[in-house]
Amino acid sequence: MTLLLILIFASTILVEAYANQNVLEKPKKRTKKEMLDDESTEIVVGEVKSKESKWVNSTYVSQIYTFAKITIDKTERTTTNLPETIKVFYEGGTIGNTSSVAIRNPWGIIELPNEGQVKVHLVEDDRFENNYYVLGVETLDEEPNVIRGIYDIDIIEEYQLDFEWIGNYLDSYVSVDWYSVADTVPNEIVNDGWLNALDAGFDNWENDALSSMSFDFEGDRNYLTPDNGYSEVGWGTVSASCVAVTYLYPTDSWEREEFDIVFSDTKSWAVGYEANHYDVESLCTHEVGHVVGLMDLDDTGSNQVMWYEATAGSTYWQSLKTGDKAGAQYITPLYSQPTIDITWPLTYLDQYTNYEIRATGTSSGISYVKYKITSRESYTYESGWSSMTWDSGDSRWEATWNTGSLDGDYWIVVMSKKTNGMLMYDVHAVNIS
Ligand SMILES: [Zn+2]
Repeated sequence: MTLLLILIFASTILVEAYANQNVLEKPKKRTKKEMLDDESTEIVVGEVKSKESKWVNSTYVSQIYTFAKITIDKTERTTTNLPETIKVFYEGGTIGNTSSVAIRNPWGIIELPNEGQVKVHLVEDDRFENNYYVLGVETLDEEPNVIRGIYDIDIIEEYQLDFEWIGNYLDSYVSVDWYSVADTVPNEIVNDGWLNALDAGFDNWENDALSSMSFDFEGDRNYLTPDNGYSEVGWGTVSASCVAVTYLYPTDSWEREEFDIVFSDTKSWAVGYEANHYDVESLCTHEVGHVVGLMDLDDTGSNQVMWYEATAGSTYWQSLKTGDKAGAQYITPLYSQPTIDITWPLTYLDQYTNYEIRATGTSSGISYVKYKITSRESYTYESGWSSMTWDSGDSRWEATWNTGSLDGDYWIVVMSKKTNGMLMYDVHAVNIS
């Protein structure tokens, strides 16, 4: 049986740039490609010559890294004089029966093929001497065993729901046990109620009245060890550009029983607000969101806890936002959700034209059904939510919408809310010209 291990990163190096801003203030919107390009110090096209995965142990954490040699055919960007053959590394790889996959938001899974031509985005990193850290991989050869490009995991991400599901889940109807690792707690917070802050991070999800997730603190352990049957939360080595990492261990059936959360031991931490320090409860709340089964958001949703960039000196993530709750309720619903399906309009729409938006679904016990329009590519347009009304003659929800001067690719999103608060969404892509 192959065991999968997914790494998710709380933050990028952009954190510093936004450290003094209110988290509600949206950073300048960039496409994934632009983000990847902006953050890479070297971009090269070359051939994979060798590849080897190894367990790497630090004081309290061990994980799989893969090291590879790439012979450069072409340099698209470089800040140094690169040798003909460069050494690169990334988190993840396969050793024996254990596979580890690093999903580096926002651009996706990182995995080099065994051979063939690749385009790699790199950044200097001092964890392993003379090695460049891989930010993104694009396989250029059309061979049958090409593993993944960098944009292939956008499965449910673009759907504008203010949450995204990883695709695997904990058994939500039993309590999930977790353990602290007190020996790893940084000196600056060791006397500051860090354990209560971690516990509060779990409680924020457990206390959502409409989802069924429940967590139990079971005590302290000496080490943070992956895949040992214990879900451990502590501080340790993570990628320099990250604030925290959550490790998930899904089984073949996509259920999982273990997770580990590692907060960076090179960042500054505080229990509660302290300028330029990461708040333990806020970051724990975000990471537990991954345990629940939610993915980082990077296109829309910068006001949600699951936004991928952590902000130092902020306690904003101490409470779940609408999308976070909707996601938890989608994955582990306590009550049945309403159904909602958009049935109209079709794919191509004209500018300056009235269209009737139609959706079928649950009609009784609904407090409202609303729609909104958002742009698909640049995320520059967001209409806000407008109400739809129930047409009993046609047995459907309806609203009239004028496309106006909109031009290009858009999402129509419809949200249905039951009187008990359970939400459900549907999404439909349209092109307006
Ligand atoms: Zn995250």
